[in-house]
Amino acid sequence: MTDRRDFLKASLLGASALALAGKVEAATPLPAKGATGARVISTWDFGVAANQAAWTVLSKGGHALDAVETGVMVPEADLKNHSVGRAGYPDRDGHVTLDASIMDADGSCGAVAALEHIAHPIQVARRVMERTPHVLLVGDGALQFALEQGFKKEELLTPESEQAWKEWLKNAHYQPSINSEVRDYGKTGMPGGKDNHDTIGMLAIDASGRLAGACTTSGMAWKMRGRVGDSPIIGAGLYVDGDVGGATSTGVGEEVIRNAGSFLVVELMRQGRSPQEACQEAVMRIVKKRPNASKDLQVGFLAMNRHGEVGAFAIQPGFSYAVCDAKRQDGLLPSRSVY
Ligand code: ASP
Repeated sequence: MTDRRDFLKASLLGASALALAGKVEAATPLPAKGATGARVISTWDFGVAANQAAWTVLSKGGHALDAVETGVMVPEADLKNHSVGRAGYPDRDGHVTLDASIMDADGSCGAVAALEHIAHPIQVARRVMERTPHVLLVGDGALQFALEQGFKKEELLTPESEQAWKEWLKNAHYQPSINSEVRDYGKTGMPGGKDNHDTIGMLAIDASGRLAGACTTSGMAWKMRGRVGDSPIIGAGLYVDGDVGGATSTGVGEEVIRNAGSFLVVELMRQGRSPQEACQEAVMRIVKKRPNASKDLQVGFLAMNRHGEVGAFAIQPGFSYAVCDAKRQDGLLPSRSVY
């Protein structure tokens, strides 16, 4: 088992490997913003554009909840992004099924899972939060609700995604594989290697010190029909508590659900850990139970406390996160990692 010193060494190596890849900056600790500075953070490199959209809300003194909804709609609409929203890779039967959740500082939350034909599941999740007595709607029921709310039914499978699915079918023999998650970190140092399969999780604190979070994904590529990941599960893929902070996750959702990942990160912050320490501990809980984690498992957590301090940690190198505040709107940083 990796001892603490090796573990920290490996973490730093992971970070510097990323920095060397030239795609992200060297990791520097982010100062706290205090109650009057707005900041938005999100997972992966596509978080940069998403943050900038969120910033259009935050910079005008807007609400963190509006900011995260606006922000994550950018990758949801991006046809080049095959892991979120429209053009997401389908399940093994060729259906694009989307998962999303949104959460406010006061514990209000809404989510949709296995939603088909609606390009912006995050907007439907917010409607679930604000216009129903429920937290989570799934499948046909979620679609029915979306249509009642005036959302347009669309085909989300693009020719490019369909082509990729047909290619996968040729060799995969219809077996969904956890290895769809494994990326070619070694060569690229960044996600996007093999399957470019990632979630956007976003956390924001606005100028009034209000926190909110959003998370949206097409889930694991070539998953079994009906599979739901961590992203729409409150406490797994996303958790926000205005008294403490927020957390979100990316990677193999099953492991995050098993460990109530984002809730765990927030609870660790409540007990006094920094966002960085909390993300690291949550990742280590998963790794301890998975001896083969070094080979085939990626999970990453991103967190921000109510002072705007940020932390991130992942199993594998390659997880990056975007940071945007009044000082800089296009920050992209490497997360530390176990290996
Ligand atoms: N967490 C997502 C899921 O399991 C996928 C990802 O972030 O790569 O559905």
